Amino acid sequence: MPSRLDRLRGEMASRNLDAFLVTDLLNVRYLSGFTGSYAFALITRDDAVLLTDFRYAEQSAEECPGLYLELVESHWVPGAQRAVERAGVKSVGFESHSLSYHHWSELSAAIPDIRLVPEEDLVGRLRLVKDEAETALIREAVRIADLAYAHIAKFIKPGLTERDVAAELDFFMRRNGADKEGFDTIVASGPRSALPHGKSSDRMISKGELIVLDFGAAFQGYHSDITRTFVLGPPDDRQDEIYGIVLEAQSKAISALRPGLLGGDVDSVAREYIAERGFGEHFGHGLGHGLGLDVHDGRVLARASEIMLEAGMVVTVEPGIYIPGWGGIRIEDDVLVTDSGAEVLTQSPRRLAIQRKESGGHV
Ligand code: ZN
Ligand code: ZN
Repeated sequence: MPSRLDRLRGEMASRNLDAFLVTDLLNVRYLSGFTGSYAFALITRDDAVLLTDFRYAEQSAEECPGLYLELVESHWVPGAQRAVERAGVKSVGFESHSLSYHHWSELSAAIPDIRLVPEEDLVGRLRLVKDEAETALIREAVRIADLAYAHIAKFIKPGLTERDVAAELDFFMRRNGADKEGFDTIVASGPRSALPHGKSSDRMISKGELIVLDFGAAFQGYHSDITRTFVLGPPDDRQDEIYGIVLEAQSKAISALRPGLLGGDVDSVAREYIAERGFGEHFGHGLGHGLGLDVHDGRVLARASEIMLEAGMVVTVEPGIYIPGWGGIRIEDDVLVTDSGAEVLTQSPRRLAIQRKESGGHV
C-alpha cells in the first residue's frame, strides 16, 4: 500500500488541490505519527509541515521526522499563513467537519488570495482502509478486550453493581497493556439493558436478568469494541429466543461481508432477518461502524451506507433488539474485511448463559 501521505496526495491531485490543511487531530496523527494534543498539518504536493507549540517541539521532532516543524505561539492561524505563503500554493483544501467557522474566517482574512476548498472528511475516507501496522495495533486492542471478557465472566456475580463491574473491566484492561478504556464502559442490567448506550449505574446485578457489557481497549491509539449479553444462571425462553435471533442476524451479516459490497447492503442482511422474525422496530441503530484511531471510524455499516467495502477495513457488526421494560440484547464483534470475505478478530465466546454451574452458590 502506498504511504499515507502519498494516498492523500493522490486525492489532492484528483481534486486539483495544491495543499491540504489538516485540523482534525486524529487525522494529523494518522498522517504524521504525532501523538500529542495540539497540532495541525499542511500537506503540499512534495512537502509536509507540522504546526504545533513549544510544549511539543521535542516530541514532534522525534515522532514526525519527515515533517518540517513550524512552531506557533498563542494561535495556529498565523503559523498556517506562514506555511501557506512559504509553499507558494494557490489552493488549499480544508476539513469542513473540523475547521470552525471562527477559524475559517480568520484564515480567509489572513490568506485572501488563496482558494480555500472545503472537503468532507477526505482523510477519514483514507483511514477506513487500514495498513498492516494499523491492523496489528487493532489486533492487540482486541486481544486485551478478549482477555478482559474472560476475566470478567469469572468475576461477575449477583450483588455487584454495574459500576463495580465497569471499574473492574477498565482496571483489568489498563493492567494488561491498554492505554486506557476505548470509551466509557457500558454495563447495563435488567430493564436498563434496553438502553443501547446506558451508562453504568449503581444498580445491583441479579441472577436471571439480562446483562449487557459493551467495552473496548485503546492500544497505542487504536481501538477494539465488543459487546456481550448474558444471564447469570439459566435464561428463560424469551431471553433464549431473542438471543438466538440476534446471534443469527450477526452471523448472517458476517458471512455476507466481502469487498465490493456496499455497507448498507450488509446492514440490510441483519435488519431484514430481525424484521422477518418480528422485531424490526426494536433494532433502531446501524449494524456497525469502522474501527481505528477513533472508536467510530466512519459509519461503514450504517443503514443505507454507500461506503463500498474494501479489504483492510475493520468494522464492528453489532445487531441488537431492545424492548422497553423487558431489556435488550446486543452482540458486537470486530471484523477485518479480507480479499475473500471477512475475519472475525474478537474471540470471546458468544453464550447467553454464563456461570451456569457456579451461579447456584451465589445469593
Ligand atoms: Zn460497542
Ligand atoms: Zn460499536
